[in-house]
Parts: sequence; C-alpha cells; structure tokens
Amino acid sequence: MSGRQRVVIIGGGLAGCEAAWQAAQRSVPVELFEMKPRRYSPAHESPELAELVCSNSLRSNDPGSAVGLLKEEMRRLGSLLMRTADETAVPAGKALAVDRQRFSRAVSDAVGRHPLIRITRREVEEIPPASVPLVIATGPLTSASLTASLIRLTGEKNLAFYDAIAPIVRADSLDMRIIYQKSRWDDHGPGDYLNCPFTREEYECFVTLLRESEKVALKEFEEAKYFEGCLPIEVMARRGDETLRFGPMKPVGLLNPHTGKVPHAVVQLRAENREGTHYNMVGFQTKLTYGAQKRVFRTIPGMERAEFSRLGSIHRNTFICAPEVLEPTLQMKKRPDILLAGQLSGVEGYVESMAMGLLAGINAALLAGGREALVPPRETALGALIFHLTHTDPARFQPSNINFGLFPPLGKKIPKKQRGPYRSAKALAVLDRWQRQESVRISS
Ligand SMILES: Cc1cc2nc3c(=O)[nH]c(=O)nc-3n(C[C@H](O)[C@H](O)[C@H](O)COP(=O)(O)OP(=O)(O)OC[C@H]3O[C@@H](n4cnc5c(N)ncnc54)[C@H](O)[C@@H]3O)c2cc1C
Repeated sequence: MSGRQRVVIIGGGLAGCEAAWQAAQRSVPVELFEMKPRRYSPAHESPELAELVCSNSLRSNDPGSAVGLLKEEMRRLGSLLMRTADETAVPAGKALAVDRQRFSRAVSDAVGRHPLIRITRREVEEIPPASVPLVIATGPLTSASLTASLIRLTGEKNLAFYDAIAPIVRADSLDMRIIYQKSRWDDHGPGDYLNCPFTREEYECFVTLLRESEKVALKEFEEAKYFEGCLPIEVMARRGDETLRFGPMKPVGLLNPHTGKVPHAVVQLRAENREGTHYNMVGFQTKLTYGAQKRVFRTIPGMERAEFSRLGSIHRNTFICAPEVLEPTLQMKKRPDILLAGQLSGVEGYVESMAMGLLAGINAALLAGGREALVPPRETALGALIFHLTHTDPARFQPSNINFGLFPPLGKKIPKKQRGPYRSAKALAVLDRWQRQESVRISS
C-alpha cells in the first residue's frame, strides 16, 4: 500500500515466514533474506523455507493445554503456519504432527507466491543500519557472522550460545518421606526448594555411576567448549570426586529436619510452575542418554520412582537475554527499528517460535505504517510468553516453552483437571475482546 515503508526480514525459518506473511497480509511489502540453499546451518538440510529440523510434532492440539491454546490463538490471528500445519497434519493422537516435506513446501509456496514478498537467497552477514523495520529471525543456529554482529549490538553478556536443559520431574512421583523442603540458610519458612539428601556412600555410588553411564555423541556444531556456568554434570563428575559436592550438589545450609544433620550432598529441585506440580533438577544439565538419565537419576534418594516430564540436554542455541534487550513489542530497546522473533528472541519450541514471528510481523507492519506496535494481553498464551521474555530476572533467564506457569495466578480455587480448560476459555475470551478493541491495528 502506498505511503507504507517496506519491512526487511532476515531468516526464512518458522518465525521469519510467519512474520513475512503477517506483514504482507497487512499490505506492507516484505523483503525476506534466507541463506539456504547457498549456506546451511549444521541442522538444516532442505532448501525449502520453514524447515522442521528435528521432530515433526507441534505438540498437543488440545485447546485445554497451554500449547494447544497458543495454536488456537494463532489460528484466530490468521497464522499461515498454523493453517498449513492443519492442512498437512498426519495422525498423531492428541498431538498436531505434520508431514514435514509437505508442510515446508506449502509454506514456501505461499510465501513465494505472495505478490508483496520478495525472497532473496543469501546470507546477511551484518545487521543493516536503521532504515526500515527489520525483523531478525535467524534462529538458534544463526550464522557466525550475523552472530558477531548481534554481539556488537547487544554485548556478549546478553547473547547465549548453549541451552542447558535440566530434567523435570513430576511432583507426585517424589518420595516426600525422604525429600525435605528448605531454602539454603533459611531456617524459618518451609523454603522454596525440595532437597534430596545423600549419605557419603550414596554420593560416591552416584558419582561412579555418572562417570560410567552412556553419553550422547556430540554433533559437529555442539563440539565447542561449554561455558563454565553450564557444564554437564557428568563432565563435573569426571573432574574430581568432590566437584559435584562443591557445585550443584552442595549441601551447606541445608539442614535435614528428618535427621537434624546436614547431608553429605543434596540434589535440589526447584518448582517449575506456580502450582508446584513439576520440579526441575537444579544445575543438572547433562548429555547422558535418556535411558541413562532415568536409570542414574532414579538412584537419587527420594527419586526412586521419579517420572520425568522432560529429560536433560545441552545443545547450541543462540538466544538473547530478552529481559535486558527486548520491549514487550519484541522491539530492541537499543534499536527500536529492529524486532527479534523466533528462538533467537528467547522462546523455546516450534510453535512458540512461530508465535513470536506472528507478533513481530504484525508489529513490523504497524511500525512501517508509522503506528505504535502492539502488546498482547497477559492472560493470553501470546501475552504470557511475552511476559516471560520481558519480566524474568535477567540473571535467571532461560528460554521457555509455553506453559500455564507463565500465566497470571488463577485468583480462585479450581479443581486440577478443570484448570487448563478454564485458563484456555478465559484466554480466548480476552483475545477476542483484544481483537475487537484493536481491530484497526491488528487487521489492517
Ligand atoms: C537441532 C535442533 C533441534 C530442534 N528440535 C526441536 C523439536 O523437535 N521441537 C521443537 O519444538 N523445537 C525444536 N528446536 C527448537 C526450535 O523450535 C527450532 O529451532 C525452530 O526451528 C526455531 O524457529 P526459528 O524460526 O527461530 O529458527 P529456524 O527455523 O532455524 O529459522 C532460521 C532461518 O534463518 C536462516 N539463517 C540463519 N542465519 C542467517 C543469515 N545470517 N542470513 C540469512 N538467513 C539466515 C536459517 O537458514 C533458517 O532457515 C530445535 C532446535 C535445534 C537447534
């Protein structure tokens, strides 16, 4: 549309394609840069846009789940990628899984045929100076030169290269006759952490088992050094018998009320959500195989019957420290002409990356038209993700999947089974109201 600037998007992955579509559908010309097929990241192999690099599952499609809700919100906001996922779905029970080739081809066709989108197949090595709204959506494996350019803009401390994921256990599978609740040095309250206490013998067996257990082979792009702050526990175990006891298994200040003594070592568990239904194992990032993790971690006192909702891993993941760098509109504080989208913005997962692309595309189009960018309401899944990105303590910031723990408190007691559907219904009502209130900005 005349009078509107164009929008430039770097990265034709999940977020970049969704952003391009959203901006173009709002009559804003888009220039999309994608480095494939001239250059591939170590995980990408198809020349198509919107490639799913690993699993073909977009997780639950149940609207009563957080990720199901996020999908529904995206559908209501006219997401190209959700529509394509629905059209290319394969049977997968309650999950939405897609035929990955058909999915990528269909997105590539739709984006490629849009009269307002021009695709240039080349690597962008340097962040361009401010001119038109720019969306950077180059993903967790952003090319090296663009990463260097991002570091110059954000500062090295605000850009991470490894994602260390610790396992998550279900609270109802923990043995609370052994495990005790206590924060370090806090003798007053019940404490925020659950502590699994080890005797000397138990600790020594655990360290031996860790050293002997099977590790996942590293991929070429993962072989660079780990940051000292996120060493895998098996690497720490190899460094010395006491390394873990002076690291994540440090027992000081954690008197066990069951015995009146400080244990020889502890594994600490921290609540993953406000409801306390899931806990993550603090500092337990690991490259052990999934089978080995289950075997070894079930020798931890109190975790003999542990059920894991996620197992640990470490992989290359370029992402910014969103609470330091981003506004809730996905604009960079330092350069409001730049919006970050996808995994690079600090979310985790296919659907979350697409969702941030959707928002960045809408906002880039608004900025191109000289208008103010939007922030979705916090009660929605989109808003809850944005809130996580912009309101987490920067020192503890880690990329997150969407989950109901990121939403505002419920404010009333609701039976466990009804909480998901209740939150979803509320979120969709808020989204509908927002769409009506902001209809001019959202849909034009
Ligand atoms: C190995 C691996 C496996 C993963 N598996 C899963 C999974 O199974 N399920 C899940 O939910 N999430 C998974 N993720 C996390 C995440 O959801 C995906 O990485 C997702 O594709 C992120 O979307 P994105 O749009 O941010 O980035 P991408 O989809 O990776 O898109 C980025 C695009 O930018 C291009 N690009 C990069 N640098 C430049 C440049 N300088 N100039 C031009 N183009 C450039 C790339 O070629 C790519 O096409 C995985 C991540 C990795 C690294």
